[in-house]
Amino acid sequence: MLIVMEKLHTAENLEKVMQQVRELGYRPHVIPGAQSVAVGITGNLGPVPPELFTTLTGVKETIRVTKPYKLAGREFRPRNTEVRVGNAVFGSENLVVIAGPCAVESREQTLRIASEVKAAGAQVLRGGAFKPRTSPYSFQGLGLEGLKILAEARRLTGLPVITEAVDAESLHLVAEYADIVQIGARNMQNFSLLSEAGRLRKPVMLKRGMSATLEEWLMAAEYILTEGNDQLILCERGVRSFDTATRNMLDLGAVAVLASLSHLPVVVDPSHGTGKRGLVAPMAKAACACGAAAVMVDVHDRPAEALCDGPQAISPAELGSLVNSLRQIETAAR
Ligand code: PEP
Ligand code: MN
Repeated sequence: MLIVMEKLHTAENLEKVMQQVRELGYRPHVIPGAQSVAVGITGNLGPVPPELFTTLTGVKETIRVTKPYKLAGREFRPRNTEVRVGNAVFGSENLVVIAGPCAVESREQTLRIASEVKAAGAQVLRGGAFKPRTSPYSFQGLGLEGLKILAEARRLTGLPVITEAVDAESLHLVAEYADIVQIGARNMQNFSLLSEAGRLRKPVMLKRGMSATLEEWLMAAEYILTEGNDQLILCERGVRSFDTATRNMLDLGAVAVLASLSHLPVVVDPSHGTGKRGLVAPMAKAACACGAAAVMVDVHDRPAEALCDGPQAISPAELGSLVNSLRQIETAAR
């Protein structure tokens, strides 16, 4: 439920409403709006009788929230969420470009690619230190050593860093070293990990599970938001489909649908979304045109030697020309 306050309510009126919510055993969330302030309620298992609030001074009306997700929904928060990381603002008019290798393979490889993506116009550096691999025999990432390499790359380039956490242990390590904590597709419904990420006070990017509906994805986001972390970004990375022509089926329709369902910024990952380097630029451009907050692109200067996902990595030079096109599309289409 949303309790909308009168425009001229007093601080005391608002506090009474908050107190009433707490006394019922629920959690109040103050939501500033253009006209007035509203209070959202979470924690209730069934409908809350509106009279409990409509009879209080300063309350204009109550509105039932129709979606199962609350904090992630537009009903609760009409204004777009903006997440600031370094100079980049996710959810603003401007498209953010995240780029880097799929995995941190070595200090030299990461520092080299980091300075190249920076020169190409990227604003955030990506690179996996903990890799969730399908096969236990594949390269699993450098772990803590990888995080230290990313921190060095940030020092040298000034680029903030995003990297994945795969469990509670790596979550706290990643939070210590990175600017944005990534939760990958395979962990989208790891609810204890989501709650733990919700207790961080640091931006989190939640990727879509490979067969998750938008509602399941937003409910996963809710686990993070309800713990108090509102610096949350979503990332569309393609879903499993019947067609084997691409690695996944990149769902750009989801970006447009989410713009109405949720206030959270949505990033698009055309690299994991297609699995093919030749498709990365066209899908990144389409993502920009349809309102994505950012694109996240795998870049490698020696893709044939990459320890992870070489076939979907574009070169630093290709990233440079892609960024130029994206800036033009941004001006024309947004
Ligand atoms: C990644 O971004 O490195 C990754 C593993 O992606 P996903 O979780 O979408 O498969
Ligand atoms: Mn990858």
